[in-house]
Amino acid sequence: MSALPSTSGKDHFAEAACYDVVVVGAGFAGMYMLHRLRGLGLKVRVYEQGGDVGGTWYWNRYPGARCDVESMQYSYSFSEELQREWDWSERYAPQAEILNYARHVAERFDLRKDIQLNTSVDCAGFDESAGEWQATTSDGKTVGAKFVVLATGCLSNARLPDIRGLSDFAGKVYHTGHWPHEAVDFTGQRVAVVGTGSSAIQSIPVIARQARHLYVFQRTPNFSIPAHNAALTAEEREAFRRIYPEVRRFAREEARNGIYAELPDRGALDDGDNARRARYEQRWARGGLTFMLAYNNLILDQAANDTAADFVRAKIAEIVKDPQTAKLLQPDNHPIGSKRICVDTDYYATFNRSNVTLVDIRTNGIEEILPNALRAGGKDYEIDALVLATGFDAMTGSVARIDIRGRGGRTLKGKWAEGPKTYLGLMSAGFPNLFIVTGPGSPSVLSNMIVSIEQHVDWIADCMVWMGQRGLDLVEATKGAEEGWVAHVNEVAHMTLYPQANSWYMGANIPGKPRIFMPYIGGVGVYRRICDDVAAKGYDGFAMTAAEPLREAARS
Ligand code: FAD
Ligand code: NAP
Repeated sequence: MSALPSTSGKDHFAEAACYDVVVVGAGFAGMYMLHRLRGLGLKVRVYEQGGDVGGTWYWNRYPGARCDVESMQYSYSFSEELQREWDWSERYAPQAEILNYARHVAERFDLRKDIQLNTSVDCAGFDESAGEWQATTSDGKTVGAKFVVLATGCLSNARLPDIRGLSDFAGKVYHTGHWPHEAVDFTGQRVAVVGTGSSAIQSIPVIARQARHLYVFQRTPNFSIPAHNAALTAEEREAFRRIYPEVRRFAREEARNGIYAELPDRGALDDGDNARRARYEQRWARGGLTFMLAYNNLILDQAANDTAADFVRAKIAEIVKDPQTAKLLQPDNHPIGSKRICVDTDYYATFNRSNVTLVDIRTNGIEEILPNALRAGGKDYEIDALVLATGFDAMTGSVARIDIRGRGGRTLKGKWAEGPKTYLGLMSAGFPNLFIVTGPGSPSVLSNMIVSIEQHVDWIADCMVWMGQRGLDLVEATKGAEEGWVAHVNEVAHMTLYPQANSWYMGANIPGKPRIFMPYIGGVGVYRRICDDVAAKGYDGFAMTAAEPLREAARS
């Protein structure tokens, strides 16, 4: 029996299909949203533009792609059985294994029957008189839905750089975020990689082992910490499973970033030079993202941050034999951690190979792409294949691509033209019954994203139940609550060093995109408590109404 009154049998949708909820996207967010809503007895349709489930892990198949949060934690926690039965093979699972995990979840929870693949949602308009959404899909159909949930992903809109001559290149062009499904073999080829973010840093060592020559075109060097990836033994997995309840609790409630880790008890300047170096060495030896948890003020205090940045710069100089190349690889224009820190396997050491050349394009960028070469610094680098590891129109890109119209026909893209505006990253005022999973204004990309996805999905499902129990049909963020939240997100961000970097968190990688720090930096645990508190207060900051009076008005 449904916890909610289902709208799916209503007369005015007799002609067109009608759902309680349309979910856009079938990555980890869309899949779990479907599972939860079906558990409430709702009629749900998920549309996914890709050819399979998995989202990020369906699209990003570049060589070396793997997670940077350890797999035992970068996995769903909602099902005890799932958590017990799935064996991760490595500390950081490769893309193919994570995609298989997503497929396994789809089969295990029988999700596929409600997911329509190879179909994008192109438009969604709120019909004010009916109090419902109409969504138009790429197969030319329009369906009705009481709620729409955007599970469209923060990093799902791959961005091609605007470089002169790109379309004239005669060889193969690849984007890391849109990698072909068939194996790509660079053996014997001269390859260029443009970019030195996480995707490039993972793929460069693997491509270098295949290619005849690899040219890496670097505009901004990034800080990277070794992954120390390794196979997981059955004993290690079991030991982890024994502490799962505490790991998951800590990740949800206490961690800032949704990762179970030892939290720092002091600031970097509270230790003397030797003790500090020893602590950084220990973190470097352990590897991974938690390097930034060596001290509690690394992202707050410039002098503290400098000690960590200097340590990593010294490591780069130790690993890279050619001093000039080492110097170019040392980041010097942003605090460590203010851009997503990278996690690598042999990245810096790859520049010791005789078949790898680092090309510094910081001053003039890539001047032009010719049919057989990249021109930079007045020199032509002849290549056979071009890999663009140039990132994403993050957080807002995939939302803006859909023509979403709320009250008064106002578009969400238009409303967000000066930066995304949401209440809690979950809803935007003027767009009733439209939820966003890990939207801007929530911890999202600053966290272990599966932790944040599960929290949002549960909150949204609970909100629908609450409304159903009270006969309420419409929920909408109030303008006042939204303004207050946007100001808070901004204020907290500016208490840290994050806004100093030209990062995609700030929209700085997209020409013309407003420079606003988009994710919420207050921490996963703190944020969860805020969301729970809002719900406990009867969804404070959200206006809820019954739609019946609207329908009455429309009928009369
Ligand atoms: P996605 O996985 O992006 O799924 C969204 C889906 O929506 C996509 O399949 C897309 O095709 C679909 N879609 C979008 N618009 C439409 C539309 N209009 N119509 C129909 N379908 C649409 N996070 C971590 O926490 N740890 C990691 O280790 C990690 N590694 C990453 C590695 C890479 C290479 C990348 C790019 C990101 C990584 N992330 C990581 C972030 C990652 O995106 C999230 O962890 C998570 O997979 C997001 O799930 P999602 O379902 O929210 O979004
Ligand atoms: P990114 O971090 O945005 O990096 C893009 C790179 O391309 C940057 O080095 C950028 O230089 C460069 N670039 C962009 N346009 C360019 C141009 N016109 N000319 C020259 N260089 C250009 O993108 P990403 O590496 O795909 O990573 C995005 C996010 O996805 C990560 O931060 C992370 O959250 C996630 N991710 C995670 C993993 C993982 O380890 N699990 C792997 C991949 C991605 P500038 O810095 O100068 O702009």
